[in-house]
Amino acid sequence: MQIELINLKRQYSDIKDEINEAIENVLENGQYILGPEEKALEKEIAEYLGVKYAIGVANGTDALVLTLKALNIGPGDEVITTPFTFFATAEAISHVGAVPVFADVDPDTYNINPDLIEEKITERTKAVIPVHIFGQPCDMDGIIEIAKKHNLYVIEDACQAMGAEYKGQKVGTFGDAACFSFFPTKNLGGYGDGGMVVTNNSNIAEKVDMLRKHGSQKKYYNEVIGYNSRLDELQAAILRVKLRYLDKWNNMRISAANKYDSLLSDLSDIIKTPYKIKEAKHIYHLYCIQCENREIIMQKLKERGIATGIYYPVPLHLQKAHTNLGYKQGDLPVAEDLCKKIFAIPMFPEISDDEINYISDTLHKIVKGA
Ligand SMILES: *Cc1c(COP(=O)(O)O)cnc(C)c1O
Repeated sequence: MQIELINLKRQYSDIKDEINEAIENVLENGQYILGPEEKALEKEIAEYLGVKYAIGVANGTDALVLTLKALNIGPGDEVITTPFTFFATAEAISHVGAVPVFADVDPDTYNINPDLIEEKITERTKAVIPVHIFGQPCDMDGIIEIAKKHNLYVIEDACQAMGAEYKGQKVGTFGDAACFSFFPTKNLGGYGDGGMVVTNNSNIAEKVDMLRKHGSQKKYYNEVIGYNSRLDELQAAILRVKLRYLDKWNNMRISAANKYDSLLSDLSDIIKTPYKIKEAKHIYHLYCIQCENREIIMQKLKERGIATGIYYPVPLHLQKAHTNLGYKQGDLPVAEDLCKKIFAIPMFPEISDDEINYISDTLHKIVKGA
C-alpha cells in the first residue's frame, strides 16, 4: 500500500463537478480579482466564524503582515509568539520591522504556554500572536487575560485551524484579529495561494482592506504605502464550494484521529499521540506523534509505503535567519525537545479505515522490531 501524507486528489475527485462549474463561471464572468465571488466568500466566512469583517488577501503570510501593519506595529516594537510554528508567523513580524520574541510551548498541546508569556513582556511589547498549531486551539482564556492586563493586541494565527473551537466558540474570534491561510493543504485550502484577515474591529478591517489595494480606497488615490495582496476570483469561487463541506471534512479528520488514538493506545510508552484539551474541538490539520529514534521509524514506514513529514525540525528561535535575535540552544527547551521527536503520519479527511489500520499495524510491527 502507498499512502501519501496528504492526498488532495481524492477530495477534488469527490467534488469535481461543482469545482469545475465554479471555475467555469468565473472564467465566463470575466472578473478575476476582487469581484463577486471574493465578496461572497468574505461574507460567508464572516458568517461561518461569527465575526463582523473578513478581508481576502493573497496568502496567510500577508494576512499576518497586513494585520500587524494595520495595528501600526513596526520598528521598535516587540511581538511575542511561539517558537513551534511555521516560519511565516515570525517572518511577518520581522517584515513590518518589529522583533519576534519567543515564549516556550506547553509540552502537551504544543501551543504557546500562557504562563511563560508574562516574563517576555517589556515596555516595547505590542502584541501576542498565538498559533493554533495543527488545529488545536490555544488556551485563549489564559492568553486574553495576560493581554488585557498588559494592554497588548492579540492576533490569532489560525492558519491551521479553520473550524476549530475553544469552549464552543470558533477560533479566530477571540483576538483583535485573526489570520487564515488557504494554502492547498490547509483544512480549507484552495488550488493556489490565498488568505484572509477576520476581525470585529471596523478600523482594522478598513486598514487591511486599504493596505491590500496599494493603500487606496479610491482607485489611483493612494493614502498610504500598501501592498498588492488580493484574493483572486478563481480561488474565492473554489473556496466557496469547499466551505460548504468544511465541517464534514473536519469531522472526518476527527474520526480518523480518534481511530489512530485508539489503535495506537497500547504503544503509549513509546509513541505519544496528540493530546486534546477538554474545552476544544481539535480539527487535526496534521496528526503528529512523538517518539525517540523517529528517523528509524520514519525510514521503516517509508519502506512500507507510508509517507511521513517532520513538523517542525527546527524551532524558530534556532533558525539561521534568526541568528541576529541572539537565542541559543537550551533557551526554549520544550520546543527544542519537541522538534527532535515529533513527526506527522498521514491525515486527510478521505483517509480510509484500511489505510489507518495498515499504518497502525505497521507502526506496531516496527516498534516490536518486526
Ligand atoms: C500556512 C501557515 C502560514 C502561512 O500561510 P501561507 O498562506 O502559506 O502564506 C502562517 N502560519 C501558519 C501557522 C501556517 O500554518
